[in-house]
Amino acid sequence: MAVITCRSKSLPTASLARAARRAVEVNPANAIAHRVVTRTPTGRVGGRKRIAVVKGLRWPATGVRLTVQFLDGPGRDLRTRILLHMNAWGTHANVQFVETRATGKVRIARLDSPEEMAGYWSYLGTELLDAPPDEPTMNLEGFTMKESEAKFRRVVRHEAGHTLGFEHEHMRNALVQRIDRRKAFAFFDKDQGWTREEVEEQVLTPLEARTLMGTRTSDPLSIMCYQLPGSIMKDGRSIRGGRDINATDHAFAAALYPKRLK
Ligand SMILES: [Zn+2]
Repeated sequence: MAVITCRSKSLPTASLARAARRAVEVNPANAIAHRVVTRTPTGRVGGRKRIAVVKGLRWPATGVRLTVQFLDGPGRDLRTRILLHMNAWGTHANVQFVETRATGKVRIARLDSPEEMAGYWSYLGTELLDAPPDEPTMNLEGFTMKESEAKFRRVVRHEAGHTLGFEHEHMRNALVQRIDRRKAFAFFDKDQGWTREEVEEQVLTPLEARTLMGTRTSDPLSIMCYQLPGSIMKDGRSIRGGRDINATDHAFAAALYPKRLK
């Protein structure tokens, strides 16, 4: 079974300090988050940005309105459809993605090369403000109108979630602990061509619970959760992963970006 995966993308280490300052400018609450940030056990000083992005990259609580630029000239039908799925987050939360022909804050490409740009990925939250302006902030490799509606839901809504600042739900410790490491290395090597290091980074490094800005318990049906096959789980039970933004996701997004400020 080929699983749909996504690599969460981070800025190069050299840009992280600037991105952190910017995050606080955008939403002062991000400063509080930065104080509780910790490194992962394998992190180096100034290295491992994963934890830093978790809490401190949210957009203002007054709402998110982001311009979206398509970099490789997809037809109007595809542009409309992608935007529709991104805006699914706006049914409960104060979130709006609007197309622009100028340079967008969100820049979408469909690259299959070079390798580090291929696949499905997005920058997290305010970090995209410091991405190189001539480069994408989100990649939807090979996406066309031929993709199924299910895949649009699963992939486009998931990547839009990253753009809103949401991390991978499966990185929660409770879910990571259920994974058999050896089997995971073998599986992702065969299925995705990932190195051990990539598997470690993308699948096996749990977010520290106290740095999460997420819901209280891990939610294997969140749109921000990967599919993980039973064959790599210690208990043999697969994690189905989210197929769409679920009620918990909607409630969480609405709490961060409420339609009406209390
Ligand atoms: Zn992802």
